[in-house]
Amino acid sequence: MGSQEVSDWQDSWKGLRVTVAGLGVSGVSAARALAGLGAEVTVVDGGSGPALEARAADLAEAGVAVRLGDARTLPEGTGLVVTSPGWKPQSPLFLAAAEAGVDVIGDVEVAWRLRGPGAAPWLAVTGTNGKTTTTQMLASILRAAGLRTAAVGNIGTPIVDVVLEGDDAYDVLAVELSSYQLHWAPSLRTHSAAVLNLAPDHLDWHGSMEAYAADKGRIYEGNQVACVYNVADAATEDLVREADVEEGCRAIGFTLNTPAPSQLGVVEGILVDRAFVPDRQKQAQELAEVSDVSPSAPHNIANALAAAALARAFGVAPQAVRDGLRAFRPDAHRIEHVADVAGVAYVDDSKATNTHAAQASLAAYESIVWIAGGLAKGATFDELVAASAKRLRAAVLIGADRALIREALARHAPEVPVVDLDRTDTGAMAEAVRRAARLAAPGDTVLMAPACASMDMFTNYNKRGDAFAEAVRELGASA
Ligand code: ADP
Repeated sequence: MGSQEVSDWQDSWKGLRVTVAGLGVSGVSAARALAGLGAEVTVVDGGSGPALEARAADLAEAGVAVRLGDARTLPEGTGLVVTSPGWKPQSPLFLAAAEAGVDVIGDVEVAWRLRGPGAAPWLAVTGTNGKTTTTQMLASILRAAGLRTAAVGNIGTPIVDVVLEGDDAYDVLAVELSSYQLHWAPSLRTHSAAVLNLAPDHLDWHGSMEAYAADKGRIYEGNQVACVYNVADAATEDLVREADVEEGCRAIGFTLNTPAPSQLGVVEGILVDRAFVPDRQKQAQELAEVSDVSPSAPHNIANALAAAALARAFGVAPQAVRDGLRAFRPDAHRIEHVADVAGVAYVDDSKATNTHAAQASLAAYESIVWIAGGLAKGATFDELVAASAKRLRAAVLIGADRALIREALARHAPEVPVVDLDRTDTGAMAEAVRRAARLAAPGDTVLMAPACASMDMFTNYNKRGDAFAEAVRELGASA
């Protein structure tokens, strides 16, 4: 943290006994920050071993106590619990806190409470898919407008550290929020916020779809200027309707179709704004062309419109929206074009770890050899396969739960040839790519959008994407 003096509004932390749950990145950052403000901090973590002990030793130097091997009981005298995002609400520590009448909050709530009176406003993004992309697009647009900003929250530097840089460090923040973070951030009140979409995910954590949606919906609570929702996803608009917002805050829709008044949308290949214009009944403002967005797959145009809506709500000029979108490049493994080999495009969407994401990326191509499979996390594949069947030339299935996808293909796309790869060793991806190459014709796309988590075969989705790219390179070298 910086050398900023402790100000009045931060005084309330002095002497407060805070228990931080989890010795991960956000836990360490929160612990340091709060100790720096004079709180008496204890970090608890159920794990043990040299790596955690080394971290504990570092924290001890900052005056933070660490208790390893017991994450269940609440340390004596705890006045507040600060949790890391992944901890389940049903964790014994939180039950103990509830019993003792002690609040539990997350890192985002800590950051929110640490903001000074003149702190930069937050423009916030959540949704089942597209959060990181949209938040980064938003930051790119804000930068193009000459504003000092950072993409934070579920990405980048821990949000507590960014806020502690001081009120003057940024003009506005682009904040990605997961449903977990929203769950633990009860007093968050942003300038404007967007919910991109809602599909079942993380239901084991939240307990039910209703609880998951309710946590996502918290992002709209107390919004000042705009609640941005997805016209194609009625559940997001319902959340706006249910939210208690500031007087004058507007509901702004985004759509891939022609926008109605108070919406942003697309007209003949042009992204247009019919919300932040002087006369929205009669006027529309051109923002950018579809080709300014990379990749220009439909779901990504939706992301761009959501980012544009938040930026426009903040007063950003149309030209900066265009410049920011042009300057934006997605992170790796998100519909990443790896190479063309023998007239076939190879695309890595390893980040498509659920069916909703995979369906979006399958919708972006006409004729696809689909590489899919991995850990299904309780998902079903019927809707995805039925919606994508006509685009599939063939499918190559990998991973632990591939039978679920094979059965869905048999039900909804019986004519699509399927290769079922019965191996999970490190060479499996290379074989999947070779088999896909044999099934593809010039003009096709071989798309790895697994609709599943990767941990059955790989450390994470990055490694899965790297394995795919490596296999494509080998294919190119031998072509
Ligand atoms: P998140 O941060 O929500 O996980 P990302 O921006 O990292 O989202 O994108 C994750 C994956 O979700 C992408 O690889 C893509 O397949 C898919 N995706 C991105 N945007 C959307 C969207 N608006 N709707 C559906 N799927 C999307």
